[in-house]
Amino acid sequence: MNINKVGSQINVANNLALINKKIEASLEGANRQKHDVNLIAVSKVQPVEKIEAALVEGHRIFGENRIQEAAFKWPALKIKYPDAKLHLIGPLQTNKVKDAIMLFDVIETLDRLKLAEEIKKQSVKKGSDITCYVQVNTGEEQQKAGVFPAEAEEFVQYCQKTVGLNITGLMCIPPVSEEPALHFSLLGEIAGRLNLPILSMGMSDDFETAIAFGATHVRIGSSIFGKRESI
Ligand SMILES: *Cc1c(COP(=O)(O)O)cnc(C)c1O
Repeated sequence: MNINKVGSQINVANNLALINKKIEASLEGANRQKHDVNLIAVSKVQPVEKIEAALVEGHRIFGENRIQEAAFKWPALKIKYPDAKLHLIGPLQTNKVKDAIMLFDVIETLDRLKLAEEIKKQSVKKGSDITCYVQVNTGEEQQKAGVFPAEAEEFVQYCQKTVGLNITGLMCIPPVSEEPALHFSLLGEIAGRLNLPILSMGMSDDFETAIAFGATHVRIGSSIFGKRESI
């Protein structure tokens, strides 16, 4: 059956199948509907062959965290797989916004006004809106990107109403040393108050917890593609 596939392709295919199974089991455990979670395969620092192995399996949503790397890997893949969708999950500088909106379908890391205004400006120039999620720094960590929980409501509303951005969800990366459930629950609460339907939360180590707390998008890298190596 897998006779034409090399080892790394078989691994990616098997890992994807396993993760999808675990996602469905978590949904069932949480009394949620089947297929209610979107798996974002985080392909940062992974070689194109492994990404293509996932595409060949029919997987279509991917996450990258650096513009330059995405610009290197994705234009050719998007020609071959035009329905592939790419989410930006890493920090975005204002001078890279123009490139970002050409490459990505969703920006998950909106976290400051200057960036919101630049995304609007470049979207108007391009003639199409881009979907954004606001990153919330739920652990209020000094070194981490994202708006603080107390500022999130005002920020989202300002970006929607005054800047005119299409914001559909929130994303967070919990502090490594803390119980992620508290952070997922907080993110869900804020999204609920804002009527935002999308919650991007949960990675390889904690996606099952995230699903129990209502994640609509989980971002999984190493459990699909293996340990990250340099490209
Ligand atoms: C790298 C990364 C992930 C995936 O992490 P894994 O532990 O490899 O699953 C998810 N979200 C963000 C924002 C990341 O940078």
